[in-house]
Amino acid sequence: AATIIDGKEIAAKKKVEIASEVQKLKELGITPGLAVILVGNNHASRTYVTNKEKTCRDLGMHSVLIELPEMATQEELLTKIEELNGDPAIHGILVQLPLPKHIDETRVIESISPLKDVDGFHPINIGRMMTGQDAFLPCTPYGIMVLLEEMGITVAGKHVVVVGRSNIVGKPVGQLFLNQHATVTYCHSKTKHLQFHTSQADILVAAVGIADFIKADHVKEGAVVIDVGINRNEAGKLCGDVAFEEVSEKAGYITPVPKGVGPMTITMLMYNTLKSAKNTLEF
Ligand code: NAD
Repeated sequence: AATIIDGKEIAAKKKVEIASEVQKLKELGITPGLAVILVGNNHASRTYVTNKEKTCRDLGMHSVLIELPEMATQEELLTKIEELNGDPAIHGILVQLPLPKHIDETRVIESISPLKDVDGFHPINIGRMMTGQDAFLPCTPYGIMVLLEEMGITVAGKHVVVVGRSNIVGKPVGQLFLNQHATVTYCHSKTKHLQFHTSQADILVAAVGIADFIKADHVKEGAVVIDVGINRNEAGKLCGDVAFEEVSEKAGYITPVPKGVGPMTITMLMYNTLKSAKNTLEF
């Protein structure tokens, strides 16, 4: 049976390290600050935002929640972001997605200063990541890399197969693996012979958004299986993109859902905010 990669425990360890760095920075007169903007009243978004705020406070960081009504105009949102771009107490700005339909998400993301883009969604940071320069890395992909590092799993030379090509998970995680010298295959909704590809993977990343989509047949004996999915199955139970029971019989390592990749995402957000605050020391 597979070794379980305990994301909750690894996240807890990382958070202790971050909190200690925050203390050191505070002694130098800088409190890392994160501003989270929530537009409208999406229930899931509100839960995420509340968690982010709480984690900030737990780690000794400054946290600001800006709530705008569902009917807020794009102009109002852009004005708010402009204000935060210039606010020295704020080191990270996060606009919780999705935004209401009348607001252009791309426009909004591009209005955030790349120096405060702790989600790593700004094209400048994506470009810097692609070219292997220092950048804010997107939190979920970054969290996956930290999980592997903490488990002592080497990446160089491995065949990594990523199922899913979203801008926030699939595409960037493949790029991070490539940066670490893996051979990377991307699969997606138009991929033919999915199982042929996934069963070659030394490391298989599932970021599809379909409950129990990856079965034992998709997986090579002993593979590392990273499950990014957060889904509800028919019974309303939280589950990943991987059929955990059967795949864990065959895999070498596996991340559970919950307590796998999930806890790492918010941790890397805190890490990025700390990093941004530290960057101000250099100027
Ligand atoms: P998305 O819907 O943007 O992308 C899904 C991808 O899956 C697409 O690129 C699509 O091509 C691919 N796909 C769909 N059907 C397929 C099929 N039949 N065969 C092969 N590929 C197929 O989703 P996303 O934003 O990347 O999120 C994926 C999952 O990860 C969701 O369950 C989401 O909730 C979860 N998620 C978790 C975290 C976390 O912190 N753990 C963060 C982000 C997203």
